Amino acid sequence: MEIQEYNKSVKVSCDFCGAQMECPEEMLKNTKKHMCAACFRKGNPTDEELKDVHVDLPAEEMDEMAASGTAEKLASDFFPEFWSEQKEGLKDHSKKDLAEEMFEAGAYYGIRAFLESVKQIEEKEKK
Ligand SMILES: [Zn+2]
Repeated sequence: MEIQEYNKSVKVSCDFCGAQMECPEEMLKNTKKHMCAACFRKGNPTDEELKDVHVDLPAEEMDEMAASGTAEKLASDFFPEFWSEQKEGLKDHSKKDLAEEMFEAGAYYGIRAFLESVKQIEEKEKK
């Protein structure tokens, strides 16, 4: 995880609707287009569409997006395997038990992925 300090923002206009928005000066170098938060929410763009695009989102919304994106990725990466291993044992669960079990498994995979990424960052820093 890299936290960068941007000290200066410049006014730019959204390339999709023309609305005024801000872009950190540092980012101007690496972006080709700008997208305001409204267009982002409306358009639901794919990663490919967002290549070289600076999206002006409030920090908390970024966290939200990162969390839901990561959760989706974890589910698609781990759920099939988890399900094929566990489904027999889960057959007799009530709906509530099942939901609880799944919730717990989701949290487990999430925390594990988080810890792994922390470890990777630490290893990278050692080098
Ligand atoms: Zn816009």
